[in-house]
Amino acid sequence: MRDKIIITIDGTSSTGKSTIAKRIAKKLDYIYIDSGAMYRALTYYAITNNLMSKIFFKKTSLINDLSKIKIDFRKSYSNNNLEVNLNGISVENKIRSLEVSDLVSQLAAIDEVRIFMVKIQHSLGKNKGIVMDGRDIGTVVFPEAELKFYLEASAELRSERRFEELKETDKNISFNEVYNNINLRDTQDINRYNSPLRKASDAILIDTEKLTLDEVENKISYYISTTLSNS
Ligand code: C5P
Repeated sequence: MRDKIIITIDGTSSTGKSTIAKRIAKKLDYIYIDSGAMYRALTYYAITNNLMSKIFFKKTSLINDLSKIKIDFRKSYSNNNLEVNLNGISVENKIRSLEVSDLVSQLAAIDEVRIFMVKIQHSLGKNKGIVMDGRDIGTVVFPEAELKFYLEASAELRSERRFEELKETDKNISFNEVYNNINLRDTQDINRYNSPLRKASDAILIDTEKLTLDEVENKISYYISTTLSNS
């Protein structure tokens, strides 16, 4: 049997990373981990525990709470997908709101938070056979991963894609809100001191601007089969 590998998919927001990562994991019978969902789950904790809002952030209290917070992934009863759990309860349906999206990058810049998340991510990848998407997976979390991808597309296109998705559940959302959020997060993620978003030097760059999801998947699948047949 072929050895299992670690596949990382990084890039700016809404480049299609999670959709592609999910498809690839299914094809290979690997585990798919959405590392952004972990940062979102912690942001949801901070908001619901009055530690964070647009006007305040009780950063020290959040750091102190980390020792009593458990973030993990469990299979959903309804569709067998892995869902992010916060202290044993699925928060998958609570973490995609614009409120969480607007605050998550601020929280993701904190050193203690990143240490907390990377520890969990390492334990999830210890047996390999994993596809993980995020911002620092190929650079910091699994720098030794066998295969790394970096996806990019213009902010306009990414915002259009995200807007189409979000308006299914939030009829009041505007394109401008989504566009501003994507630009804000890109800026915060790229410019933070700890684990900034950047392409790992050995990551394969895929510009998704003019490609359909199927075409992106085909490109990635080609690299995977080449790597697996050489392993
Ligand atoms: O992937 P997603 O857009 O859900 O990620 C939400 C946010 O979580 C990102 O904008 C970023 O601030 C943070 N994040 C991170 N490192 C990761 C994954 C996500 O800092 N590996």
